[in-house]
Amino acid sequence: MPTVRDIVAALNRWAPEAQKADFDRVGLQVGDPEREVSRVLVALDLTPEVVDEAARTGVEMIVTHHPLIFKPLARLTPTDLVSGLAFRLAQEGIAYAAIHTNLDALRGGVSFALAELLGVENATTLAPERGMLKKLVVFVPQSHAEAVRQSMAEAGAGQIGDYRDCSFSGEGTGRFRATEGTDPHVGAIGEVHAEPEVRIEVLVESWALGRVVRAMQAAHPYEEVAYDVYAVENAHRTVGYGAVGSLAAPMPLDAFLAHVARQLGAESLRYAAEPGATIHRVAVCGGSGMSFFGAALASGADAYVTADVTYHRFFEPMDVTGRQRLALIDAGHYETEWITEQLIADRLAGAFGGLEVARTEHRTSPMRTWTGTAPEAR
Ligand SMILES: [Zn+2]
Repeated sequence: MPTVRDIVAALNRWAPEAQKADFDRVGLQVGDPEREVSRVLVALDLTPEVVDEAARTGVEMIVTHHPLIFKPLARLTPTDLVSGLAFRLAQEGIAYAAIHTNLDALRGGVSFALAELLGVENATTLAPERGMLKKLVVFVPQSHAEAVRQSMAEAGAGQIGDYRDCSFSGEGTGRFRATEGTDPHVGAIGEVHAEPEVRIEVLVESWALGRVVRAMQAAHPYEEVAYDVYAVENAHRTVGYGAVGSLAAPMPLDAFLAHVARQLGAESLRYAAEPGATIHRVAVCGGSGMSFFGAALASGADAYVTADVTYHRFFEPMDVTGRQRLALIDAGHYETEWITEQLIADRLAGAFGGLEVARTEHRTSPMRTWTGTAPEAR
């Protein structure tokens, strides 16, 4: 039976916590890592009814997309919603973890699931992330170049898009003088030694750097290894927010709106669009995606489906002539993200045979849409 620690580790292998946004808090928030788990409940949000459901069904662990504890808690008492839920989880002995922006940023994560639900094919990352990559350069005697190259690749270095084991090597001469008290692999103490060496360069994801450096050092014969770590500005090819691709066939705007509402179970859609537009290329971002509006526009998308669009931002698709450059559609935060529950549940069930994983029976959104008839206001 897996422990809470095993489940958190499996989530971390899938969507590394280092991929999360700076402001975010993910991972284990409540509970004993050593507790064994036979049943997990997955929800988009942690609400009192989700905790009730977990307690009633004997679940040992809950995993949600939106983190319960976002700001540090000043107290753990049943006085307000957040600290009260954390208090209750601790009391019930239910462990709790969140997988949030680290799952948003994953290729195959939240936005890719949303794209698939909307029939968007051949999706790629809409807004690749910068600052996630390092360049590791190491100088190795020729005799050990292959072993070092291989051990770095095995530890996860040298991934570019779908290519693996990527590296660059150049030959040169390394010089060093070993001083008293050292134990040099080659050369004599007190003399400058010149050794034919290979300079090996690899790209490494920042969260894998420690592991790769340790593997490199283990395979390297020198007592003191010469290596450099550089920050690089390249965007990560497969880590980032949103997804963009194309529908199997173009759809008139009205048909596309109906399709979005039906697929997402949205009672209403708020949108700005050119009447009679044709929608073929579609960008999506589950949840609050307006930070990536520029990327959606630049991607050439005919529509951008996201949530939490405020009034003034609905003007942004409009050009100086009043024409809408793309259809901006706010389908609702819950509506664009509930698919995440299935994504997490499938992943956990696939990772641990025998682990029971269920999605909550509750629609956790606190928002409702009023659909009555109102008198004329204006
Ligand atoms: Zn969200």
